[in-house]
Amino acid sequence: MARVIACINQKGGVAKTTTTMHLGIGMARAGKKALLIDFDPQGSLTDCMGFPEPDEMEETVADVLLNTVNEISMEKGFAILRHGEGVDVLPANIELSGVEVSLVNVMCREAALKNYIAGLRGSYDYILIDCMPSLGILTVNALAAADSVIIPVKAEKPSMRGLQQLLRTIGKVRRSMNPDLQIEGILPAMVGRTNYNRDVLRALGEAYGSPLKIFDSIPLAVRVAETAVEGRSIYLRDRNSSAAKAYEKLTREVMGYGG
Ligand code: ADP
Ligand code: MG
Repeated sequence: MARVIACINQKGGVAKTTTTMHLGIGMARAGKKALLIDFDPQGSLTDCMGFPEPDEMEETVADVLLNTVNEISMEKGFAILRHGEGVDVLPANIELSGVEVSLVNVMCREAALKNYIAGLRGSYDYILIDCMPSLGILTVNALAAADSVIIPVKAEKPSMRGLQQLLRTIGKVRRSMNPDLQIEGILPAMVGRTNYNRDVLRALGEAYGSPLKIFDSIPLAVRVAETAVEGRSIYLRDRNSSAAKAYEKLTREVMGYGG
């Protein structure tokens, strides 16, 4: 049965998409079957993984959600694409923002993604959800569907302020619909070697490090940014880089194989 993990932060540009991609491909490299769900109407995961023109795709997560709420059955694997590095991808595009609007009037609107995923749990070891930068109804769907969350953050002060609000939202979701939702940990991603970065990381550890796990940082590296343009991972691009090693270590920890 798949474990469902959401990469979440209402701030954009904190490496949610990059982390989803590298965690998923890391799992595939370890022999696991992983599905990555693009849950952002910007379609950045779909784009980063090298699938061209998300906005012109005919079958996406938007159709999957609408079919689920309308109880229309789908063939096995409907809308799911295969990436060359061994993971499956459920793509997204701008149509997902239309779904966000139409869900407002649907019964059990928070459970649409959860209900869809229920039918897939037997087919994968891991299902990763790349959330959009907001705490709206789509993100609440992701939190309702997930077993756990990973919170990527930037080592910058404004990023820290948003954490309080995010943790409150997670608390609300736990109380109302998903009491077992766990927090895998906070992941400082894109961390440079400046004193400022170091100070912010120390403050992060002091503020959150005792109730929550803080994963080892992912270093800031131009090559990681370049993977988003090439559609292939840092594991292929530069396997011995510190960023590749950091993502490999994160993958092992999330899979429960320790550091
Ligand atoms: P989010 O999904 O949270 O908006 P992204 O994963 O899209 O964030 O990352 C934002 C930008 O930063 C992208 O251009 C991405 O390629 C780049 N990026 C992500 N991780 C790193 C890193 N470790 N080093 C340098 N650039 C990175
Ligand atoms: Mg993103």
